[in-house]
Amino acid sequence: QSSNLQGYAPICLGLEDFYIRRLYLRIQDCFGRPIASAPDAWFDVVERYSDDNNKTLQRTTNISRCLNLGSYNYLGFAASDEYCTPRVIKSLTRFSSSTCSARVDGGTTILHSELEECVANFVQKPAAIVLGMGYVTNSAILPVLIGKGGLIISDSLNHNSIVNGARGSRATVRVFQHNTPSHLEKVLRENIAEGQPRTHRPWKKIIVIVEGIYSMEGELCKLPEIVSICKKYKVYIYLDEAHSIGAVGKTGRGVCELLGVNTADIDIMMGTFTKSFGSCGGYIAGSKDLIAYLKHTCPAHLYGTSISPPAAQQIISSMKVILGEDGSSRGAQKLAQIRENSNFFRSGLQKMGFEVLGDNDSPVMPIMLYNPAKIPAFSRECLKQNVAVVTVAFPATPLLLARARICISASHTREDLLKALEVISKVGDLVGIKYFPTEPKKH
Ligand code: PMP
Repeated sequence: QSSNLQGYAPICLGLEDFYIRRLYLRIQDCFGRPIASAPDAWFDVVERYSDDNNKTLQRTTNISRCLNLGSYNYLGFAASDEYCTPRVIKSLTRFSSSTCSARVDGGTTILHSELEECVANFVQKPAAIVLGMGYVTNSAILPVLIGKGGLIISDSLNHNSIVNGARGSRATVRVFQHNTPSHLEKVLRENIAEGQPRTHRPWKKIIVIVEGIYSMEGELCKLPEIVSICKKYKVYIYLDEAHSIGAVGKTGRGVCELLGVNTADIDIMMGTFTKSFGSCGGYIAGSKDLIAYLKHTCPAHLYGTSISPPAAQQIISSMKVILGEDGSSRGAQKLAQIRENSNFFRSGLQKMGFEVLGDNDSPVMPIMLYNPAKIPAFSRECLKQNVAVVTVAFPATPLLLARARICISASHTREDLLKALEVISKVGDLVGIKYFPTEPKKH
């Protein structure tokens, strides 16, 4: 079999040179130094094709197009769209690509107010504030919501933007075991007594922070249980729906809709527009008082340039399509398609013997590689057969929990998915990552 591995066999046996080099490059990356060279497609400059829903990409160093199984283009809106694109072009002509001003300095066009209304309506909260970047939404809003003397209780696998926002807030941060409500309760009990009124606590404020779908795990948040614990202990809950808003739920309204949680029970709803809506930016939605407070105090809102008008228009238009307000049923079809595609692909991988993390309906599905030395072999062998798959390793995951992370889109066709399954199956055999073989091995 080693000849099949085309030179990868030795590195699959342990932490070999290639992996150590890759690790070194990643660490360099973390410290903001330039990356010396590109180990796979994701470090490369790529060409994308809006006219085919961005479901393929092409490396500048490779002549063939690859099926893109790595983007968060869940509903296929990051592409030319019959409803959105003409409106976005019109908004570009009318407003230009930038307001060159903060919201309070003339950077509020009619699109910005319409966008906030649309977002509040979409996520079913009284009001919303939009910032130009999802990452900044977490990292800039958290320090405004809570400060010294406050307590943040954060899921251990929350996104880096949350981690940075929590650190920047100067509140005390405690971490609970990933998606484990019983451990959340334990952490709460260690810090406050059950039924203790808010005014008698040693903390000025307590916020529990979770995500709707965890992007490295593909897992849905155990939201109903977590919400009832937050209610029991009278603490605030902050829900980051970057990967779930627009992608799951009957009408695309995210994990609350999917899991039957009343949005009135979520104090602070956060999300981004870079996934399901094919745009950029992030939002916080909540009570009118909360949003008015944030608008008056959040430096990123007061001193940062407002979101680009065409980006705002893309969000407004894609939300209208999802809700059927464009007069078509395309939104409902896209939602049905991403669900069908995700469940088809997940069960296909499982039937082949891969260990796949996450839950049904989630478009994110990590395939466990475990041995970090298998990363380059897996990713390059897939690429050779024109399937581009993101691999994730330390420091984004624990050292021995390396994985390939597939992201499914509504724009993938059944043919695309079958081709991808075939390639991944062959590469899985080659690299040796089918941990649950479906058939006994022939010797
Ligand atoms: N929150 C979560 C959970 C994310 O996964 C991400 C990025 N993928 C962000 C926030 C930041 O969003 P953006 O990429 O839109 O800046």
